[in-house]
Amino acid sequence: MGESIPLERQVILAPGGYFGATVATGQRVRIVDLEGQQVSDFMSFAREDPREQLSMYSSRAVNSNWRLTAPHQLYSNLVRPMWQIEVDTVGENYCGGGYCNARMNALRYGAPDAPNCETNLEKALAPYGLNRWSFGPDTCFNIFMTYAYEMNGVLEIREPKSGAGDEIILRALMPQIVAISNCPQVRNPVNAGRLKPLRVEILN
Ligand SMILES: [Zn+2]
Repeated sequence: MGESIPLERQVILAPGGYFGATVATGQRVRIVDLEGQQVSDFMSFAREDPREQLSMYSSRAVNSNWRLTAPHQLYSNLVRPMWQIEVDTVGENYCGGGYCNARMNALRYGAPDAPNCETNLEKALAPYGLNRWSFGPDTCFNIFMTYAYEMNGVLEIREPKSGAGDEIILRALMPQIVAISNCPQVRNPVNAGRLKPLRVEILN
């Protein structure tokens, strides 16, 4: 399905890399997990006022679902539709929000200086006048991340289920600023212990 859409821009995100772009209504963002088992952290903001941004809370509540995939829509913190998930060949994305960051790495792993998604997202958003305080954990969609909720209350990060060539395509339902972190976390199973490249495409 994605094959037939004209390509506007394509980048290879190196392991641990990041990406920022603006998209118009109707454009699509395609993320391809080139080698498999690589998570990306995805955020977006309304171009007309970036205080309106992706909300995992709104998205879960509107869909009555915590495993959002195609054909769900993702919503903003003002409960307006932001994205149509058109394709998701994995069907496992963590929808509870959050991103790896220096404080969590310090507390969990004693590694405050390890590369992290929060810093990546800050860098991706800086050219658009946004900073660390422009977003929060609720803004972040964890693509291909497996975070298991057990009946006994345990919440556990597990290895991703994606294989080489798995992809997600999101169609923008409003003009947006997009930031993506190719998650650099190796201290838990989130990326199965090895960082891999991703391909990001903007499709018209
Ligand atoms: Zn991360």
